[in-house]
Amino acid sequence: MAEAQQRTGAEEVLPEHREGSAADSGAPGAAARDKPVCLLVLGMAGSGKTTLVQRLTAHLHSVKSPPYVINLDPAVHEVPYPANIDIRDTVNYKEVMKQYGLGPNGGIVTSLNLFATRFDQVMQFLEKKQQDHRYVLIDTPGQIEVFTWSASGTIITETLASSFPCVVVYVMDTVRSVSPITFMSNMLYACSILYKTKLPFIVAMNKTDIIDHSFAVEWMQDFEVFQEALNQESSYASNLTRSMSLVLDEFYTHLRVVGVSSVSGSGLDELFVQVEDAAQEYERDYRPEYERLRQQLAEAQSRKQQEQLERLRKDLGAVDMSSAPPADFAGPSDLIMMRGNPDDSEEDEDSDTDDIDHSATEESKEGDSFGTFLKERKEVVQVRNRRCEVPDDP
Ligand code: GDP
Ligand code: MG
Repeated sequence: MAEAQQRTGAEEVLPEHREGSAADSGAPGAAARDKPVCLLVLGMAGSGKTTLVQRLTAHLHSVKSPPYVINLDPAVHEVPYPANIDIRDTVNYKEVMKQYGLGPNGGIVTSLNLFATRFDQVMQFLEKKQQDHRYVLIDTPGQIEVFTWSASGTIITETLASSFPCVVVYVMDTVRSVSPITFMSNMLYACSILYKTKLPFIVAMNKTDIIDHSFAVEWMQDFEVFQEALNQESSYASNLTRSMSLVLDEFYTHLRVVGVSSVSGSGLDELFVQVEDAAQEYERDYRPEYERLRQQLAEAQSRKQQEQLERLRKDLGAVDMSSAPPADFAGPSDLIMMRGNPDDSEEDEDSDTDDIDHSATEESKEGDSFGTFLKERKEVVQVRNRRCEVPDDP
C-alpha cells in the first residue's frame, strides 16, 4: 500500500510540461481540448499501422506536442517509436504460446486478453498524464481481426472511449487496393469496423508515395467509374462486388478519407484536420452514449469489487482481519506496465520505470474466469509434456 502511494506521488506531472504541450499541439482546435484524443490505428496486416504511428509520433514531437504512445502488438519484433506503454513489457507472447500450448494467433489473442484484464491500470496512467498530451496513439496487432473481433479489443476500445474522445484511423494499403475487388473487400472490412467500434472513423489511404489515392476517391464518388473498372474483371467476385458497391454508397458519403504516406510523411496535416473534425463528432454524437456506458461500467465494477471483497472475507475465514490487507489493496496480481520515456528526453523524470514489474509471472496477470481457463490449459500442456517425456525415461 505504502509502495503504491509512493508510486502515485512520484508520477505527479510537472507543470511546465502541461503548458508546453497544450499550447503547441500542431493541429487547429487541439489546444482548446481538455483531454487528449485517442487515435486507434487499425488496418490489415502490412497496411502500415506501425509505420504510420512512427511517422505521427515523429511529426508530433517536431511540433513540440509529444504523443502518448501505446503498442498493443505482442508479437512485433521491434517497435520503431518511443512507446510509453508496450504490451510486450507485460506479456511475453512466446512464453504464453509455450506455456499454454498455443499457436501464433492463439498466442496473440491470449496475450491481448491477459493485457485487457489489466487495462484499468493503463487508464489510470492515461488519466494522470492527460494534461501533458494532446494525442494518444494506439498501435494494434498485425492481424486486424485479433483486435476488432475479440472480447479484449472490445473491452479496450470501450474503456478508452468511455473516458477519452476516440477516433478510429483505418489504415488502408492503397497499392494493394488498385484491384477493384480488393478495394471493395477493404471497404467492406472498414464498414464492418465502423459499425463494430461505434466511433468516428477516418480512412487513411497509405503508401501514396507509391501510388496516388485519387483513383480510389474517384471510385467512391462516382459509381460508374468503379463499374467501368470492374468491367475489366470477369468473375463471380466481380458480380458480387458490383452489388456490394451499391450497398456501400451510403457508407462512402459520410466517410473521411485522407491520402497519406507513412514513409514520406505527406498528408499528415490533412490527417490532423480530419482528426479534429472526428474528435468534434465524438463530442457531439458519441460522448453521451459512452458516458452512459461509463456509468454502467462503474456500477458493474463496484458490484464486482463488492463480490471480490466478500470472497476475500470468506477465504480469510477466522484469520484476524486486522492483519489483512485493506479493501483497496490491489494484491500481487496488480501488474504495472508503464514505461519510462525510452528516447530519454527530459519529458519527465519518469519514475514510472519503477513500475515495471519484471519479476511478475504470467499467472499474476490472470483475470478471474479467463485465469481458470489458462490454468486448465497449462495443466493440459504439462500432462502432455510429461507423456512425451516418458519414452526417454530409462
Ligand atoms: P502493419 O503490419 O500494419 O503495422 O505494417 P507496417 O507498418 O509494419 O508496414 C508494413 C510494410 O509496409 C513495411 O515494409 C513498411 O516499410 C511498408 N510501408 C508502410 N507505410 C508505407 C508507406 O507509406 N509507403 C511505403 N512505400 N511503404 C510503407
Ligand atoms: Mg504493426
